[in-house]
Amino acid sequence: MKFETVIGLEVHVELATASKMFCGCSTSFGAAANSQVCPICLGMPGVLPVVNQEAVQLALKTAVAFHCQIAAVCRFARKSYFYPDLPKNYQISQYEEPLATGGWLEISGQRIRIRRIHLEEDAGKLIHPEQDQTYSLIDFNRTGIPLMEIVTEPDLRSPEAAVEFLQRLRQNLRYLRVSDCSMEEGSLRCDANISVRREGQPGLGVKVEVKNLNSFKSVRKALLFEASRQTRLLIEGKPFRQETRLWNENLGITESMRGKEQAHDYRYFPEPDLVPLRFEAGVTASLKTEVVELPQARRERLIKDYGLSSYEAEVLTAEKEVADYFEEAVRYYPQPRMVANWIMGDLAGLLREKKCAINQQPVTAEMLGELARMVHDGKITMTAAKDVLRETFNTGKHPALVVQERNLVQIDDASAVKTVVDQVIAENPKAWADFLAGTDKAIGFLIGQVMRKTRGRANPRKVEELIRGYRHGK
Ligand code: ADP
Ligand code: MG
Ligand code: ZN
Repeated sequence: MKFETVIGLEVHVELATASKMFCGCSTSFGAAANSQVCPICLGMPGVLPVVNQEAVQLALKTAVAFHCQIAAVCRFARKSYFYPDLPKNYQISQYEEPLATGGWLEISGQRIRIRRIHLEEDAGKLIHPEQDQTYSLIDFNRTGIPLMEIVTEPDLRSPEAAVEFLQRLRQNLRYLRVSDCSMEEGSLRCDANISVRREGQPGLGVKVEVKNLNSFKSVRKALLFEASRQTRLLIEGKPFRQETRLWNENLGITESMRGKEQAHDYRYFPEPDLVPLRFEAGVTASLKTEVVELPQARRERLIKDYGLSSYEAEVLTAEKEVADYFEEAVRYYPQPRMVANWIMGDLAGLLREKKCAINQQPVTAEMLGELARMVHDGKITMTAAKDVLRETFNTGKHPALVVQERNLVQIDDASAVKTVVDQVIAENPKAWADFLAGTDKAIGFLIGQVMRKTRGRANPRKVEELIRGYRHGK
């Protein structure tokens, strides 16, 4: 008997606005607890919310990017529940009238349908001190931060596909500058709905909603665990109920949290303190012009226009800033494969080492293009170029200046190289004898000595040719 896993995701994204959803408080992350609050987001009696226009625009932009239908009119709704992180005892959300419906995002050639996108506000953050479990703390800074919820149809068929969807979603939202989607800071969070059915079975199986997934890794692990738990129950013929479960990262298992809540538990009703949002007919068309080229289109274009491999295109488009940098560097030096190699190789290495982003370091696209050109034109050797890049990266000095200051121009005068080779052979009789005796390893040492003496300015290939030529000659 074969089984099939069915997954649908509910993704919460904190929008990159400066202020909160219904008040003017700051949304910046990491401030002292309860320093970014006011009577509105603390839910004091008598206050009135005002919709953050920027949040609406970011959600609309997302909806357009994912091919959704934007509602002509939509309303906010009160979702009532009682929990310490929610000072009003209701969350302003959207229920029957979401901002947008019916879109899709493609992963590995498959369209994953998006059921709806709606706006709501975030709740506060509870802190449970481990050393003393008799009390908890609440930080209301997060209360009222604009949240966009994206709900997919149950179109995903494996934990891996679910993770791929989340990664693609995150990549797209970052391109759109809708959110930084930092999972560590909680600006991208996801609840996963999962069920298992017998292959060919009509309809869907009983689903479980898994909460508390804080990383792509935990999404994958929790879904793998849940898929096999449900499959086992099906095989054993043990019926189970629809419920909400929590992922326990330490134990690597999901644990029952509560039976599935029903919509009526939340007593949804239209938010009486806010006017409906009404969008003009042309809103979709005008937003389309604001949507930048998204990763998939960009990958395809880089392959087509620059002859990159799909792997190169994937790496270079992972972040918009890197793709922008690549295209700019190619404008200075139109050898795309070479520019790609520099970015994906040495520059990426330096960025990893210093843990910084491509637009937060001094090597401009023009400098990188110039560096690649100097190597290609034979002005400097590859060895020297690697050092130059490091120095430019550390000091911001232009590569051309570094080459000049450090006198790194390649020695292309054959007789000058020969002089150094002769010197090295004279100074290293043992290595030379080994080489003549057929120990090929010795040549590496001799070349290394020549490169040292010339401070990387000789072309190692030519040095090798010269040394090998000697052996045949002598
Ligand atoms: P609920 O009413 O419990 O909130 P919804 O129908 O609104 O359920 O769906 C919530 C999420 O669960 C959606 O992402 C949807 O794709 C997913 N989902 C619904 N049914 C299933 C199922 N049987 N198996 C897996 N995912 C499901
Ligand atoms: Mg739901
Ligand atoms: Zn506030």
